[in-house]
Amino acid sequence: MTGSSLGPMSMQAALDAIRARIERAAAASGRPADAISLVAVSKTHPAERVAELLACGQRRFGENRVQEAQAKFPALREQHPDLVLHLIGPLQTNKAADAVRLADVIETLDRPRLADAIARAAEAGGRLPELLVQVNIGDEPQKAGVARADAEKFIRNCQTRFGDRLTGLMCIPPVEGDPRPHFRALADLAAGFGLQTLSMGMSGDFEQAIEEGATQVRVGSALFGARPVQESATQAIQTPPAGATPPLASLAR
Ligand SMILES: *Cc1c(COP(=O)(O)O)cnc(C)c1O
Repeated sequence: MTGSSLGPMSMQAALDAIRARIERAAAASGRPADAISLVAVSKTHPAERVAELLACGQRRFGENRVQEAQAKFPALREQHPDLVLHLIGPLQTNKAADAVRLADVIETLDRPRLADAIARAAEAGGRLPELLVQVNIGDEPQKAGVARADAEKFIRNCQTRFGDRLTGLMCIPPVEGDPRPHFRALADLAAGFGLQTLSMGMSGDFEQAIEEGATQVRVGSALFGARPVQESATQAIQTPPAGATPPLASLAR
């Protein structure tokens, strides 16, 4: 698959299929389907694909890189002012100001220095997006998110600092093994702080996440098809864009 358009009709079909699965998973756990928002993860897909999904009625989108979001979303937002943009990728402090200007939700607040940078940018720009704390729920060394042992203190500090703009928690459980205990742990952690929003569940596990209390699921490949460049959601290694020549290889030529 090259990431080419499937056409608006199949986009609608893909969206309907995901919504039906969300409804079934919600019903299975006795929850109303409208308690769960679908965040369509459009990273690596061109703005035209996002526009197709907007035409199907989808309004919430997730991007993991500030630069890519900046290139795609301002124009789309002019057409659809009710579009809601989530940043779901690791955020460098030097991108915090752009993120604060661009995003409606930043899901990856995971360290004190980033909290400082977001607070400064919000003060300067007069705008503070909704914030989620990302927890490294499986304590995986290669993964972003605050460590389990530091999570409570960090969440408490963020709550003090950002008040009700901090609405919840986000996690990416380990790829291997049963994700449910991790989803449950995130739900328990959020409940202890009275936080309502739980961003958990991706294409491979969103039904389980819903059954464990997810209020937002982040679905990419099940909606858009495979990404042009396979990009792992472990957020570990930044792969170069397709077609990029490694610098050393070009020197050797
Ligand atoms: C890419 C990504 C997703 C979507 O992953 P799929 O498996 O394609 O649904 C969700 N969350 C984060 C943080 C991601 O980076």
